[in-house]
Amino acid sequence: MSKPLLGCIADDFTGATDLATMLVQNGMRAVQIVFVPGPDDPVPDADVLIVALKSRTAPVAQAVAESLVALQWLKDAGCQQYFFKYCSTFDSTPEGNIGPVMDALTAALGCGFALACPAFPANGRSVYQGHLFVGAQLLNESGMQDHPLTPMTDANLVRVLSRQSTGTVGLVAYPTVVQGAAAIRKAMIGLKEQGRQYAIVDAVTNDDLLAIGEAASGHALITGGSGIAMGLPENFRQAGKLPLRDDASALPSVEGHAAILAGSCSRATLFQIAKARGHIPTLELDPLATPDAAALAAQALAWMEGKLGATPVLIAASAPPEQVAALQAKLGRGPAGELVEAAMAAIAEALVARGVRKLVVAGGETSGAVVQRLGIRQLRIGDAIDPGVPWTYAEGTGPGLLLALKSGNFGAPDFFLKAFAMLEG
Ligand code: ADP
Repeated sequence: MSKPLLGCIADDFTGATDLATMLVQNGMRAVQIVFVPGPDDPVPDADVLIVALKSRTAPVAQAVAESLVALQWLKDAGCQQYFFKYCSTFDSTPEGNIGPVMDALTAALGCGFALACPAFPANGRSVYQGHLFVGAQLLNESGMQDHPLTPMTDANLVRVLSRQSTGTVGLVAYPTVVQGAAAIRKAMIGLKEQGRQYAIVDAVTNDDLLAIGEAASGHALITGGSGIAMGLPENFRQAGKLPLRDDASALPSVEGHAAILAGSCSRATLFQIAKARGHIPTLELDPLATPDAAALAAQALAWMEGKLGATPVLIAASAPPEQVAALQAKLGRGPAGELVEAAMAAIAEALVARGVRKLVVAGGETSGAVVQRLGIRQLRIGDAIDPGVPWTYAEGTGPGLLLALKSGNFGAPDFFLKAFAMLEG
């Protein structure tokens, strides 16, 4: 078993999967750890370990404490470099949590310096003169200024990070970045010598990200979006620590029934259900008519009798906005969501008990509830079905289980059918 090279801490679940997919596509075998790891969690055989926290909008002290627990676990696992992953729109508040977590990780690693680069050109996120753009818009004019939890009202990341952090923040600006890795490395050393603890680094293209990655090969801690990770595998290969792998995304093959659970009411998921409905057996639950988790699960169990097999079945609670609003008006927003999540988790458990080994779950919160109920702690990352949504293999749980966990709005209209077709090929 090889030791992990890169230890990552992500401030949310889908961000962790995004980062993992990026690293797998660049030749590193990755395992995602679900929430805060504990001493009993075994160290999986992988090149990259990614701890997925839920710390983006948690209270500052909790985000810091959980990040430090994750770091210690990654250190104990033998990682050689660390990565703190946040959103490519730098989602945070004036208090944090990006700055306080960076302060804590920098102190714990004793490295005194870290770069920060959320740029992800493929998704339209670029950093120029320290300012973050979403497409052609400055961050604070992109709609992110109205985000319900983390409104971003300033696009100047030097200022934003300075407000959140106890360290001083410098800038490696674009004229330096385009000169390549050596110039970027020299600029970062200069900033550190001037007493700067952090550098926002401009990046507009993938070539910029690759050069920044190369310049940071000796850094203990790198922070940013998943874009900045694209240059890191090559550093390990150059150092002779990582073999050239063409099977980084390989997952164990699994035999068993196939199913889809949809608890997302996002538009993309509603389209995906509509597209799948004519092709596979589909049960649409009606939580408004049956506002009881156990009763909904019982309906699903009765329906699935005799239907499970190689052709997937689809069980959906998803509903258009007016029906969601009606259930929320009846029960309250929180209880309505929890009721459906509880039903979906119970159905997932029943599906696995009846031999389902290939399961697609639509919805971020729904996925969280299912993963928790199934007791899943580690997910090995495979090939992406659509951007940001890979097949994964749940390690350490009784029977082998392939899982695809889809954030509601992700995926093309034929996502569900494509997911299973990919396993056939
Ligand atoms: P997304 O990734 O699209 O945001 P989530 O699973 O995170 O999806 O959130 C969807 C929420 O809506 C969950 O809490 C789920 O339980 C709830 N939900 C699903 N179906 C219904 C419904 N018919 N009525 C009300 N709430 C629902």
